[in-house]
Amino acid sequence: MNYVSTRGRQETVTSAMAIQRGIASDGGLFVPDHIPQVDHDFIAALVPLDYRQRAQMILSRFLTDYSEQELTECLKAAYNMEKFDCPEIAPLHPVDGQNVLELWHGPTSAFKDMALQVLPRILSLALAKNKEQSDIVILVATSGDTGKAALEGFKDVDRIRIIVFYPHNGVSEIQRLQMVSQEGNNVDVVAVEGNFDDAQTGVKILFQDRDFQAKLAAAGLQFSSANSINWGRLAPQIVYYFSAYADLLANGRIVLGQPVNFAVPTGNFGNILAGYYAKLMGLPVARFICASNSNNVLTDFLQTGVYDRQREFFKTLSPSMDILVSSNLERLLYHITNGNAEQVSEWMEKLKTEGRYSVTGQDLANIQSLFWSGWADDHLTVEAIRRVHREYAYVMDPHTAVAWQVYEQYRSQTNDDTPCVIVSTASPFKFNESVLQAVDGQNFSAQEGEFSALQALSQRTGLKVPPALAELADKPVRHTLVCAKEDMPVVVADLLGI
Ligand SMILES: *Cc1c(COP(=O)(O)O)cnc(C)c1O
Repeated sequence: MNYVSTRGRQETVTSAMAIQRGIASDGGLFVPDHIPQVDHDFIAALVPLDYRQRAQMILSRFLTDYSEQELTECLKAAYNMEKFDCPEIAPLHPVDGQNVLELWHGPTSAFKDMALQVLPRILSLALAKNKEQSDIVILVATSGDTGKAALEGFKDVDRIRIIVFYPHNGVSEIQRLQMVSQEGNNVDVVAVEGNFDDAQTGVKILFQDRDFQAKLAAAGLQFSSANSINWGRLAPQIVYYFSAYADLLANGRIVLGQPVNFAVPTGNFGNILAGYYAKLMGLPVARFICASNSNNVLTDFLQTGVYDRQREFFKTLSPSMDILVSSNLERLLYHITNGNAEQVSEWMEKLKTEGRYSVTGQDLANIQSLFWSGWADDHLTVEAIRRVHREYAYVMDPHTAVAWQVYEQYRSQTNDDTPCVIVSTASPFKFNESVLQAVDGQNFSAQEGEFSALQALSQRTGLKVPPALAELADKPVRHTLVCAKEDMPVVVADLLGI
């Protein structure tokens, strides 16, 4: 299978090349040139398999230039009990009549680990396959969780350096501590004075700066990306949609072929897009429920067809979804229009120059037949955490709570009782302050600091603090750099010594 750019068909590359480059040279995103199809037998065959074996069945369809053995080794190194705290890797947790897909049992307690434990390994193999001479510099813009997951995945990986930019004062305290304490001899972490979109724009500008790239090349380096624009991030995420379906079959909640819905807390549109690929492959999905926080640009888009980034930016209790430019939407637009790269380029150009674009007619109807959307503000988010804890003794983080709340809106507006999987993207301990506040109400005091909050949440809920989070208390701060968004190129050049 080959990969093409969403903005033009000229460039056809292997999966190893798509993963090495991260983004196509015309600024578009790499997409598979056809979608592998699976039937019900394939899905039934997943049921008795463990997560690693399921991953192998799916990834081998997309990463066709990797041998089965290479994939087996990557998956063994990624999904194991040293990295994850439960053998199911991505367990399906029944809560009331719903099913919560917990994607946060990995080393950094958020769903980004599902892909970022795999990406460094397939990228290293890609360098060898492509006979690449230069070393790789991974630039990451993070709204909080990608940064740490990428640092953990890439630390001390041969021939790869990684620089992470996060919004100064824009991430949770635990997220910040996780990043600034990062160990490894190939890692740098920088706070940007701005929000996530500023950091993401800064990275995108660097990716397209030919002069900068010439300087890099002269030093034997080249850029790649670990953001969800990289195909190597998306492909591993397709797996857990199939895995959840197989688990629903295994526990008798559905019969083979029965459609299900997925409710997904969404920011950059990477998670939900992986579900869409699963659907395109043949997974029986009726509807994706796209859940946003107050930064509800996607809700508006999915309801009206108008994507308008010119709006107020809100800092919310679900910071990993505080995003106004959802990069991966570009891939959805490409597939919905049957690969009309010209049309996609026009929309993306409009987004860049005018800050908005508009999808109409059959294209919009096709999107709306599959994606339902809604949003929940902080108040509703906290309410959902409180209610679900009180009624079902289940503790959700704020991102998951947004999905739960929006799914309730969906149920009451549509009466659709199709079985639903609510995708849970972070451990509640990662956002302990908001969760404690929700669970404990007035009794909660923010004065006592992050680590007593971890313990308090553990006592209050009976859940165990993830060891990597508890250990943060004793980790020295190793990264203190703060920069203006305009200075990102200078900072990168300095850090790389070029
Ligand atoms: C990244 C993230 C999201 C948003 O996922 P996208 O793929 O960007 O849509 C939601 N919740 C958490 C906890 C995250 O880390």
